[in-house]
Amino acid sequence: MRVVLLERGLPVQRLRGKCKKCKPDSFDCCCKRIIEQQADFKEQRSLVQEVIEAAGHLCIFLLKFHCELNFIEYFWGVVKKYLCEHCDYTFETLKKNMPEALDSVNMQTIRCWEHRMQRWMDAYRNGMETRAAQIHVRNYSSKKYKSHRRIPEQVARAFDQ
Ligand SMILES: [Zn+2]
Repeated sequence: MRVVLLERGLPVQRLRGKCKKCKPDSFDCCCKRIIEQQADFKEQRSLVQEVIEAAGHLCIFLLKFHCELNFIEYFWGVVKKYLCEHCDYTFETLKKNMPEALDSVNMQTIRCWEHRMQRWMDAYRNGMETRAAQIHVRNYSSKKYKSHRRIPEQVARAFDQ
């Protein structure tokens, strides 16, 4: 890191390689922090992303820790439940059951999950915190109100404070 920074003419003579924990507002506490801010390092895509895009596909990273925004998680949940209910703890049975488990989910159900995910996204786009978004999605699902991609004003007002 030191050599790279020196090659770029950045003053790093008295800096350590990296802090145990960088200060959040620091820009030059250590070599690692400085290098992280270099444009070419910031814009570097991951190997996974490069391989996927080189094969002509889109690589879209979803938010970490927000499985509600990734409806394949609902799909995997049902597949795992199916496998669990039809399990005899042998690999042969697992291989036989996997395609059946995948086929057990119909397209209409998958579309419902997608719509639910859209409602989560709408709630977050409208500035709702997780709890408010959860209520919004639940109310929509239980048909307490019907609104396409719009949060009723009374719900939005309730979470303004
Ligand atoms: Zn640092």
